[in-house]
Amino acid sequence: MTELAERPPATTENGAPTMGHVHHWIGGRIVEGSSGRVGKVYDPATGRQTKEVDFASSDEVDAAVHAALAAFPAWRATSISKRTDVMFRIRNLVDQHRRDIAALLTSEHGKVTSDALGEIARGLENLEFATGIPHLLKGGYSEQVSTGVDVYQLRQPLGVTAGITPFNFPAMVPMWMFGNAIACGNTFILKPSEKDPSAALFLAELLAEAGVPDGVFSVINGDKVAVDRILAHPDVQAVSFVGSTPIARYIYETGTRNGKRVQALGGAKNHMVVLPDADIDLTADAAVSAAYGSAGERCMAISVVVAVGDVGDALVEAIKTRLPKVKVGPGSDPASEMGPLVTREHRDKVASYLDKGKEQGADVVCDGREHPLYGGEGFYLGVSLIDRVTPEMDSYRNEIFGPVLEVVRVATYADAVKLVNDNPFGNGAAIFTRDGGAARQFQFEVQAGMVGVNVPIPVPVASYSFGGWKDSLFGDLHMYGPEGIQFYTRAKVVTSRWPDPGTSKVDLGFPRTR
Ligand code: NAD
Repeated sequence: MTELAERPPATTENGAPTMGHVHHWIGGRIVEGSSGRVGKVYDPATGRQTKEVDFASSDEVDAAVHAALAAFPAWRATSISKRTDVMFRIRNLVDQHRRDIAALLTSEHGKVTSDALGEIARGLENLEFATGIPHLLKGGYSEQVSTGVDVYQLRQPLGVTAGITPFNFPAMVPMWMFGNAIACGNTFILKPSEKDPSAALFLAELLAEAGVPDGVFSVINGDKVAVDRILAHPDVQAVSFVGSTPIARYIYETGTRNGKRVQALGGAKNHMVVLPDADIDLTADAAVSAAYGSAGERCMAISVVVAVGDVGDALVEAIKTRLPKVKVGPGSDPASEMGPLVTREHRDKVASYLDKGKEQGADVVCDGREHPLYGGEGFYLGVSLIDRVTPEMDSYRNEIFGPVLEVVRVATYADAVKLVNDNPFGNGAAIFTRDGGAARQFQFEVQAGMVGVNVPIPVPVASYSFGGWKDSLFGDLHMYGPEGIQFYTRAKVVTSRWPDPGTSKVDLGFPRTR
């Protein structure tokens, strides 16, 4: 097995782990950073810094682009069957190392092991999709569009592509991107979140072991300096981004201004509309699972329950009774259902919305700061529930991205849809009901890119594509699935004929079919 995977955790004389250092991966090997700038990586369960991560300079980004550019001609010329073979081997190695990757996710992000394994499973789906590249790259062919003339369409790779990813899915979101990108024949540079960068390096080693040639996949660690150089570099053809809305907008505007193809997925405020006929227990189970799983740090987490008509009291009561049973603790403890938040600053920002909610007249039914782990060394916050939230309140107007569920009460179905559609975000939206007609109407008129009918987290499977509407996505194409293949290729249409030279003559008229 590879260097990183085999390396036992370094320890001091008394057995405590020493500080690790996360470098870059360029040209098929680990490259130590030379900028002199580093970031801190924490174990959120203990609150202790465990690693340093190199922050790349523009020159280091240029080195990765140089390696990617050099690797591109041979990789794009590699037969589709050989690239497919490599994709299968990547898929199998990631599958084999699920637990190693999950342990890295837990140690830097804080999520519980079962959730980390779920993230990897959803990423693997995307690698499996990419193994179908011989089918996915098939073009169209029309024989005899004019006499003796055939037309066919090819899809060709773009060249050097890049992905910039968020802290909350350090393995899955890179897999959303690089599987399709490299299967299509591109080279790919990943800039992972500086908060939890190790999974990216681990994946790089697996890719190398699977036979991905040097330079086809690189990892550049860093911050805005690295991102800005990626956005400005003339040899980077396309940028995929997932993160918060302000940065997504910036990435889209800067990247497209510099002539790049960009898909930039942003933040979310996902509503779960509950109609009066919904099964209360089933709905409450779904709301609690979707709001607090991964400590609410999922772009598809349910953050707002919209209680329609008289369902509010019973639903809030049913959610409330479930909250004390949510086990909060270290991600590495199999008994934990919810781990800490990613950093202390983020935890404190999330908690601040509880005070804002109270000040602005909402009813804080459950305050996560009362959990015994809050205030300790780890970045814990217990589950929180805020009832009687209104659209003007700060907690509603912002993406909280933590274990805080809000309840907005409305009188009618029409009020619920208006609330969802007036919200600037449009990532996911769900409806809980036993009325098929109401669900169909919701699917027809709700302004969101991903809709759940009695499904609280409607993340599309890999054979569809992922993406929101409005401020949740900037760009034209959604991520992964068929739209991912479109994003990472450009079309070329060939018109061909093999005429008898004896019939040739000069004709200055505009070509038309005969
Ligand atoms: P973030 O926007 O802070 O960071 C995302 C990436 O951008 C990171 O790699 C980071 O280093 C980089 N970055 C940060 N500031 C930058 C700047 N000023 N200039 C250039 N690059 C910069 O997001 P995050 O906190 O890592 O992730 C959480 C956010 O991501 C939430 O808003 C969540 O909703 C969103 N998200 C969206 C989806 C989706 O599919 N729509 C999926 C996951 C997460």
